Amino acid sequence: MGAIVIIGGGITGSAAADALARDGQPVTLIDRSGIAAMASGRTLGGVRQSGRHPAELPLARAAVALWAGLHESLGVDVDYRRGGNLRLARTPDEVGIIRGIVDSQRAQGLDLHFLPDNRAVREVAPALSQNVLAAAYCATDGHADPVKATHAFADSARRHGATVREGVGALGIEVTAGRVTGVLTTAGRIPAERVILAAGIDTPTLLRPLGLDLPLSTEVVAVVQSEPLPPTLGPVLGVANADCAARQEVGGRLRFTNGGSTDATRAPEPSATEVRDLVARVAHVLPIAGRARVSRTWTGLVDLTPDALPVIDAPASIFGLVVAAGFSGHGFCLGPVSGLLCADLATGRSPRHDLAAFRLDRFQTAPRAAGRPELHG
Ligand SMILES: Cc1cc2nc3c(=O)[nH]c(=O)nc-3n(C[C@H](O)[C@H](O)[C@H](O)COP(=O)(O)OP(=O)(O)OC[C@H]3O[C@@H](n4cnc5c(N)ncnc54)[C@H](O)[C@@H]3O)c2cc1C
Repeated sequence: MGAIVIIGGGITGSAAADALARDGQPVTLIDRSGIAAMASGRTLGGVRQSGRHPAELPLARAAVALWAGLHESLGVDVDYRRGGNLRLARTPDEVGIIRGIVDSQRAQGLDLHFLPDNRAVREVAPALSQNVLAAAYCATDGHADPVKATHAFADSARRHGATVREGVGALGIEVTAGRVTGVLTTAGRIPAERVILAAGIDTPTLLRPLGLDLPLSTEVVAVVQSEPLPPTLGPVLGVANADCAARQEVGGRLRFTNGGSTDATRAPEPSATEVRDLVARVAHVLPIAGRARVSRTWTGLVDLTPDALPVIDAPASIFGLVVAAGFSGHGFCLGPVSGLLCADLATGRSPRHDLAAFRLDRFQTAPRAAGRPELHG
């Protein structure tokens, strides 16, 4: 099989490069900036099955199984910890929402538990406050270090024979007589018979000249990281309306995210007010967050599709093209599986999961109301 170029060194593209290189395929991974430069380096890092759309749940379950073995398969500790995920209710209304989530996800076969009162929740996470009324608890969810994990995939791809070119941006995908023939880049043309486009928020710009439309909107999410604290929190925390999420990293730092905003004109850093609001919201359920010193803040961009599900597809109109983008705030956990699925599609194998819900052409007919990201870790 001829050369494969992957555009985008986030977790999706890096995991795809690793899968293809292990397969012995001639693969080149390019990233305009560097590995993990965008969402994959800025994420909360939650690895969860709970709270998933039914179409995404099989992928998330498969991903969680893979995360447990990454240390061994990639040869690097990516700080994966299976400490569970708590989705909290702070008001009586939110208790009803959480109850509904538990019922529907248990019906889909997920081992998710309803913790009906503060005492039950604090048995799982003693550092939580009295303001928590109930929670959904998934013991097999967890978290990992996003930068370590994404680099581990790219490094492993390199060790297995892939070429990784950072600082090389794709300017266009060359198509001749309906087939991919190369990628035009800031460093010249790279011939390719297959192209995997995993460029996050920039994916539509590269699809449009090919006559393909991926309607993405962008959400800006604020992230706060504290100074290291003693071990305080095992599970990742989310809340019923997804307006904040938090976890404690392996090194002890707390990391929080807010629910995102669509204001594209805002500054690249979160404002002082935004940071204060986010810390207060997390401290309401996790008091130590209010006393922790803030070490660093940043923002991340979410590539949001109208139905908040990703596109993982090989569009029929262009032979050799694979698109994997629009992960809508859930794509870090899915990375190991998304990479394998991209490899399946690029090599013409039957994909190992049903991808009907993730086709690009679904937006030609489906309503385009904006989806909502589910940033609860
Ligand atoms: C604040 C925040 C919190 C999140 N929390 C979670 C969470 O807890 N759990 C979870 O599962 N997900 C979470 N997500 C979502 C998750 O981080 C993303 O879905 C995932 O990282 C997407 O990975 P990706 O590889 O598809 O895209 P990206 O990581 O965005 O990578 C795309 C890459 O393409 C490159 N690129 C763009 N254009 C070009 C070009 N023209 N040429 C070459 N390269 C190009 C970029 O430089 C970038 O490195 C969160 C996201 C954010 C922002």
